[in-house]
Amino acid sequence: MRVLLIEDEAAIADFVARALQAHGHVVEKAADGLIGERAALTRDVDLVILDRGLPGRDGIDVLRGIRAAKPALPVIVLTARAEVADRVEGLDAGATDYVTKPFSVDELLARVRAHLRGPTQPHTTRLAAAGIELDLLARTVWRDDLHIELSAKEFDVLAYFMRHPNQVLSREQLLGGVWGYDFEPQTNVVEVYVGYVRKKLAASGEPAPIDTVRSVGYRLTVR
Ligand code: CA
Repeated sequence: MRVLLIEDEAAIADFVARALQAHGHVVEKAADGLIGERAALTRDVDLVILDRGLPGRDGIDVLRGIRAAKPALPVIVLTARAEVADRVEGLDAGATDYVTKPFSVDELLARVRAHLRGPTQPHTTRLAAAGIELDLLARTVWRDDLHIELSAKEFDVLAYFMRHPNQVLSREQLLGGVWGYDFEPQTNVVEVYVGYVRKKLAASGEPAPIDTVRSVGYRLTVR
């Protein structure tokens, strides 16, 4: 699928583009509202990811322009401003969905999948492995029919493991995939969150299926 990414922060644009490309999408980037709007109107794209605050032309004005010309084109708005007034303004202008910054790439990819329901793109918003089931849109977790309550970040960590079953994931991979592009590299946040997730998953009485692979990282083991 072809995704147009209109985002002026180069670090975010690069990070999101890489993740989309890794999932098989063709990505076109625009760093300015005017250029982005022109691309949305003239190119054949399947989905637009649109930053709210842009140079050249504000994201909401870009959205209005896109809506007037292409009423059915899905547009996911990235916004650093979670205020209700902004959301109302955006909904009036025709946003298909919102992702509030800072966001995890898994969350954004789940929204992209949800709004790209072409014939070649199965609607996969659920992940299941090792007796664990995740609903990426409802953000609920079940293990052997027991509902597991996770924080937002714990959910993102588990979702990342569920996308890579039986693969050894390094600390750096988890940091990049879950926390994003600009996280302090010396942090122990990965160890801490893997610990939280394991503990909560073990509430079912069975140890969590996330193994430590010594001096390499972690693995979600599916037997
Ligand atoms: Ca911006």
